Amino acid sequence: MEKIYGNAIILDGKDFEITRGYIVVRDGRIKEIGEGRPSKSFEDLKRGIVCPSFTNAHVHTGDASAQDYGIYKSIEERIGAEGLKFIVIEDKEKVKAGIEYALKEMKLQGTGAFADFREGGIEGVKLLKDALDKIKIKGVILGRLNGDTPEKVLEYSHGFGISSTDAYNFNTFRNLRELAKNEKKLFALHAGEVKDDIKEALKLRPDFIVHLTQADEESLEEIFKSKTKAVLCPRANATLAVGLPRIKDILENTLTAIGTDNVMINSLSMLREAEFIFKIARAQSRDYRFSAADVLKAATINGRKILKLDDNSLEEDNIADFIVFRNNRYIYNPTLGIIHRFEKSDIIKIITEE
Ligand SMILES: [Zn+2]
Repeated sequence: MEKIYGNAIILDGKDFEITRGYIVVRDGRIKEIGEGRPSKSFEDLKRGIVCPSFTNAHVHTGDASAQDYGIYKSIEERIGAEGLKFIVIEDKEKVKAGIEYALKEMKLQGTGAFADFREGGIEGVKLLKDALDKIKIKGVILGRLNGDTPEKVLEYSHGFGISSTDAYNFNTFRNLRELAKNEKKLFALHAGEVKDDIKEALKLRPDFIVHLTQADEESLEEIFKSKTKAVLCPRANATLAVGLPRIKDILENTLTAIGTDNVMINSLSMLREAEFIFKIARAQSRDYRFSAADVLKAATINGRKILKLDDNSLEEDNIADFIVFRNNRYIYNPTLGIIHRFEKSDIIKIITEE
């Protein structure tokens, strides 16, 4: 099946070059991107801005039924091993309802793919799998052991998403890492959220690490030297009052994506996350040249690369997974407009591979 969208402002390729023209989608893939008016009949996007869909590269959907629960308590009391979160997620019906809410919400907000660090072993993985059968969105499920064997967890999931370097002893970690590698699955963990344990995390050669909030100069150097990929969740870090990562340094020196983290802690809006990151990075660095394009890449195409999903940058033969924002004639820079001006209500169309 072929569909042509014309009269569009397209954020073309990996660097979001502006193409004023049309985009042809055939059987879920981008067949052609061209300038000007297409020769065949088309759907008029009325100068709408076409952007790759968002990738929420780090989320925990299981606690979505307890939004802001315990807001004035410490990170340990909220999401620590015996924190409120783990009381909340004992109620499987609530977890299930929360997951379904989160999937629907992500879709509405223009998120085309996400990765969940799923708690609760195989049972937890299956809860998300069942929800994904009903609500179609590209989900990468990264599981934990919870008494189950690592082989079984891997059988049902896309890899491991571990809570911290304290979760297991080194031998268990090494075993998980090897298993994931042999099965061509992902191995990732939170690192540097409340303490700088980055060096320990890097010894495990993870596919990516999440947070980097407390990473000092030396740890950042090691991350960049080893080309370890990063996922940042600064709105969650800020809400939990644990500080902020060095956003600009990280974005400019290693492949970086963005996540919204626990739904209990933070909303699922990638637009809000991108705006926060853009502004905090400029404030931290005092660098007025710091570019919105780098942030938009981290919010869209980078996450798919890190999660080993199909590329959704707007190029011929890539999968068609994009959103269209209603344009406003006073927008001077479309890339910046998305991050700095637009709201969820400005999304007028979502084309998804699922
Ligand atoms: Zn997390």
